[in-house]
Parts: sequence; structure tokens; C-alpha cells
Amino acid sequence: MALDRSFKDQVEFAAYCREWLAKNRPEPTRIPLPQAAYEVTLPEHREYLEDWQNKCYKAGLIATDLPVEYGGHGFEGFQQVATSEVQKANVPYFINWIGLGMAAPTLLTHGTESQKRNFLPTIFSAKDIWCQGFSEPGAGSDLASLQAKAERKGDSWIVNGSKVWNSLGALASWMLLLVRTDRNDKYGGLTYFVCAMDSPGVSVKPIHKMTGESGFNEVHLEDVVIPDDQRVDEVGAGWKVAMSTLTSERGAATGVGAVASSDSPMSHVERLVDLAKSTTRNGLSSWDDPAVRDRITRLYVRVSALVENGKRAQSKHLSGSAMRLPLQFKLVHSEILQEIHQVALSILGPSSSLYVGDADAVEEGKWALGYMNTYTNTISGGSSEIQRNILGERVLGLPKTK
Ligand SMILES: Cc1cc2nc3c(=O)[nH]c(=O)nc-3n(C[C@H](O)[C@H](O)[C@H](O)COP(=O)(O)OP(=O)(O)OC[C@H]3O[C@@H](n4cnc5c(N)ncnc54)[C@H](O)[C@@H]3O)c2cc1C
Repeated sequence: MALDRSFKDQVEFAAYCREWLAKNRPEPTRIPLPQAAYEVTLPEHREYLEDWQNKCYKAGLIATDLPVEYGGHGFEGFQQVATSEVQKANVPYFINWIGLGMAAPTLLTHGTESQKRNFLPTIFSAKDIWCQGFSEPGAGSDLASLQAKAERKGDSWIVNGSKVWNSLGALASWMLLLVRTDRNDKYGGLTYFVCAMDSPGVSVKPIHKMTGESGFNEVHLEDVVIPDDQRVDEVGAGWKVAMSTLTSERGAATGVGAVASSDSPMSHVERLVDLAKSTTRNGLSSWDDPAVRDRITRLYVRVSALVENGKRAQSKHLSGSAMRLPLQFKLVHSEILQEIHQVALSILGPSSSLYVGDADAVEEGKWALGYMNTYTNTISGGSSEIQRNILGERVLGLPKTK
């Protein structure tokens, strides 16, 4: 799918992206969108976001640098530009975030030629939504202890077990599935498949979060038949493939344009400044309270450093190993977001207990909702403790804990 345009360089392509985004920005939805793509459940949000992602794909903002035979646009060095313009434009996020951010990079690295040709185009267009079936009730941080199993039967595999915390599972057509094919080998006994969510034996049950949202799910697999041509890489190579998916999830992939949230870290600090200016305590604007100002200024400095590090990470020569800067970014970004929301709640004082749907809630209760949702990022894709372990052991070379 080649775009009918020739661009001289990145500057010209960036100008095209800006102009396209300004002209095609969709009208807001009747009911506001959830804060991030993981929490989409309403059919009208789904349709709106699928349509938006498909338009962005057709315009060349997704799969920008990928080969045309896999549904890409065949440019070189333009994806970064497109992604950064999408982030700056404050437009809706891409619903197929797991498809773009995890499934596509994994299939590009480990998939067969026919898997790439069959699956990638509909990931880009959002025709098929993808989810990730890794975690189990007894296997999160220690993912390799997972127990869902696949047994070979002719040209197929029979899968039984349960997955949990499965984001977008209720909307997905396909799932990235990690299962056990050998009980006697913890890491070498794992195999990676893609599983059609409409296969007989797959059932999805929403989990209700403390926020009131229910974007993630339990997925039960009972005698589910998966053809062998839906296996990704070799039997027993599942751990290697899963690590590649997680590296993408944690931000190390150059990506194909995944943007899971419309808010940049700096836009949160700007909102915090506005909140402080508009909140009065003891007759004084919170912005004039030196203690509040000091906390916001410190956050501003740290977010500025985070943004600059993000730029460094885009250059291979400055970023070091695939793990280093992207992993630091995930860790620091998720924790700073939590701190920004904590400061907002302390500025709001007692009224921070008003929530989405309460008549007098400041900014419709978004700060309280956002605060609870910041725990998503410090847990999912590997908790902050696990990121620190990886950075310590694999990047800094400190002794291993086990
Ligand atoms: C919003 C959300 C969406 C998610 N979406 C998906 C999804 O789509 N698909 C999917 O497969 N999974 C998903 N997950 C699951 C996520 O990957 C796990 O929650 C995460 O890996 C942690 O596992 P756990 O919940 O089992 O916690 P546990 O592993 O039980 O950890 C409990 C606590 O112990 C700490 N801990 C554990 N081991 C160590 C260690 N070695 N060193 C130091 N501290 C440790 C952890 O940091 C944590 O604080 C999602 C999670 C959330 C919150």
C-alpha cells in the first residue's frame, strides 16, 4: 500500500503529517474516551477508534517504514517522525495498541513469511484487534512458571488453561499466547502461538478494576484447537519470543506507530500547573504556595530530563543496548506519572475524593481516575521492581538475585 506522494526528507514528511493531522482530527466522542486504549469497552468507542486508526494507517502514519508486501508504506526513517507528530497533535490513541506495539514487532522478528503477510495488514488497519495471553493467576513476574499447556495432536495443538489480566480480550480477534509444551523444562518447555479468539473453547470474562473500568479479562481455554501453522518460531522457543514481545511492550522496539495514550508526560505537568493556578486554599492560590510550587518545579525538571532521554533513545548511537534507555523510560515515566497525580490530589485536598460522575468533581474526576490508572503502568509489562532487577542485573551487570 504505497502512498501516492514523494517526500524529499523527514522535514517534508513531518510537515505533511502535521497538516494531515490538523485537517483530519476527529470530533470528540459523545461519551468521553477512556484515558488509555486498554480500557475501551463501549462499541461506539471501538468503532470510532478503529475508524481513526484505519485513517491514520491509510495516511501513512502507521507501518510507515515497513515493506509494502506486509502492508507497510515502504518509507525509510519516517516512522519516528510520524509517531512523534501523532503524539504532539493531541489526537485519539490507537485502539490496536497491543497489535501495533507487540504483535507486529514479534511477528516481524519471529513469524513465518505467511504469518507476516496474513496478519500484519489487518493489525495496521485495526480490522483485527489483538490481545496478549501471557499472565496466569500464579504466573506474573515469574512468567516462566505458567501452566496453561498445549499438547500436539497431528497438525494441531490442543490447549487447556487460564490466562488473566488480558487487556482488550473482549474486543480481540487474535491473542498472543504463551503456553507450556514440556513440563520438565521451565524455560525451554514454553511455546508461542497466535490463537483465534473465536475458536471453540475460548471464553472471556471481564475483570472489574477499582476504577470501575473493565478493560481487562480472564480468558479460559478448554480443548482449544490451534493449527501448527499458528505456532510462532520453534517448539520450545516460546521464552525467547516472549522476551522479544516484552522488550517491545517495555518500549525498546522502533515500532510501527503504536500510541496508546494521547497525553505526553509534559502535558500532565502543564495540567498540574493549571490546576494549581485555579485552586484556592486559605484564600491563597495553590500556585502561590512555595511548597506546591517547589514540588511542581521538581517534577517539571524531571519530566524535561525524561523527554530529552526519550530523544536520545531514538538514536542508536546514543541509546546503548535495546534494554537501557527504553527500560529506564518505562520505569521513570510510570513513576513520575504517579507522582504528578499524587501532587494533583494533594492540591485538590478533600475534594480529591470526588470521582467521575460526581457533580462537583474538578475536571470531571479525571485526576482521581488517572491516579488509580497510573498503577497500570507501574505493574503491567513487568512491575517497577522487576524493571529495577533487569536494569541492575542485565544493564549494570550487578550480581543476579537467583
Ligand atoms: C492494567 C494491567 C493490564 C495488564 N494487561 C495484561 C495483558 O494484556 N496480558 C497479560 O498477559 N498480562 C497483563 N497484565 C499482567 C501484568 O503483566 C502482571 O500483573 C505483572 O507482570 C505482575 O504480575 P502479578 O500481577 O502476578 O504480580 P506478582 O508477580 O505476584 O508480584 C506481586 C508483587 O511482588 C513483586 N515481585 C515479584 N517478584 C519479584 C522479584 N523477583 N523481585 C522484586 N519484587 C518482586 C512485584 O513487583 C509486585 O509488587 C496486566 C496488568 C495490569 C495491571
